[in-house]
Amino acid sequence: MATLTTHPDCVPLISYRFGKGATNIDKYLELDGYKSARKALEIGPEAIINEMKASNLRGRGGAGFPTGLKWSFVPKQSAKPKYVLVNGDESEPGTCKDRLIFEHDPHAVVEGVIIAALAIQAKMGFIYLRGEYRYLIEIMERAVADAYAKGFLGKKIFGSDFDLDVVVQTGAGAYEVGEESALMESLEGKRGVPRIRPPFPAVVGLYGGPTIINNAETIATVPHIFRIGAAEYAKLGTERNGGTRLFCLSGHLERPGVYELPMGYNLRKMIYEVGGGIPKGRKLKAVVPGGSSTPVLTADEIDIGMDFDQVGKAGSMLGSGGVVVLDETVCMVEFALRTMKFYQHESCGWCIPCREGTDWLKKSLTRLHAGGAVDKDIDDIRYLAENMLGRTFCPLGDAAAMPTIGFVKKFRKEFEDHLEGRGCPKHRAAEPEPALV
Ligand code: SF4
Repeated sequence: MATLTTHPDCVPLISYRFGKGATNIDKYLELDGYKSARKALEIGPEAIINEMKASNLRGRGGAGFPTGLKWSFVPKQSAKPKYVLVNGDESEPGTCKDRLIFEHDPHAVVEGVIIAALAIQAKMGFIYLRGEYRYLIEIMERAVADAYAKGFLGKKIFGSDFDLDVVVQTGAGAYEVGEESALMESLEGKRGVPRIRPPFPAVVGLYGGPTIINNAETIATVPHIFRIGAAEYAKLGTERNGGTRLFCLSGHLERPGVYELPMGYNLRKMIYEVGGGIPKGRKLKAVVPGGSSTPVLTADEIDIGMDFDQVGKAGSMLGSGGVVVLDETVCMVEFALRTMKFYQHESCGWCIPCREGTDWLKKSLTRLHAGGAVDKDIDDIRYLAENMLGRTFCPLGDAAAMPTIGFVKKFRKEFEDHLEGRGCPKHRAAEPEPALV
């Protein structure tokens, strides 16, 4: 079982029940479980949405859209059924937080679905886990079955007039399905490629009905907002960025792990105090602050608060909370190439700028890394990436282009060092000198 890592600055809100046996519904009930859903049932849809707006919770999947506002876009009246959909297709490299929630606190996800369904008056919810999380499906299915057995799901939940069914589903293992419209296609049994928008899911979503789709961490946070109150929750974070989030610290750190910290927590402290700093006395070179699709920050750019606004102002994105730390030994061309290999592999091929762009970027970076590139290739890489931006059906094209632009812009010298016809200087230095003849 994966475990949460802790530090004195951590605030156990989402992780309040982690490690306490809360996969068992009776234990969950002992730990204030399902009280938030009962409260939501009492106050009704409008008050639920107002509470969510007041919490300043922003989507934890990457985009950071205000959750309460998103819920308010769902029309009150609809000829088609409405749906709540949990995006548990956690696939962003550097991100491994949703799995902890599924493992330790599955009922928080179920309870979050109940509150979201009450807010928009949906009668059906889906919890979608990524294909590689198939091993977690049993935990989630048991949680759903136990909630049915207690009368928290099914007909007349909690003895009210409200009916709600919930189904757990897994994907087949595709990064692209993390994109909300591709996820809906997949759930409908089709190939997981994105839909053209508008219309947006709040109006035309799953099976053509109004749908709210939220990341698993977002949904699991909802019961905690009702548990402590929206105002208290908002106060934990910064202005416009309420609460805490699960940050996944990986890479060259003494203490990598998943930590729950307040929104706006200083990145330098996160690396040097929470993560214990860089091993072996090495220097920090760069940080990818929010999963592989977010533009890199240099060692001089880490005096920022980790919330959506401050990281955005620094020229990157908070993304999915995957903080990847790179020390001075990392070759940035190699890192750019590895990143691009992932996106080229995961591109669904639906649109040309992404399908061709990721492929050509991979080829160019491979050549540069291997030592066969010419001067012009560096500008061509940047030009190609810049021309993918905003020209693809879904954000995967941008996710591939944005970090590439950042690597070239901020580490150009390293790219130039690869132009000498012998490839990566790091590997070159490791080669023995050729024997004199
Ligand atoms: Fe598919 Fe890439 Fe186009 Fe998204 S951007 S639709 S992943 S080809």
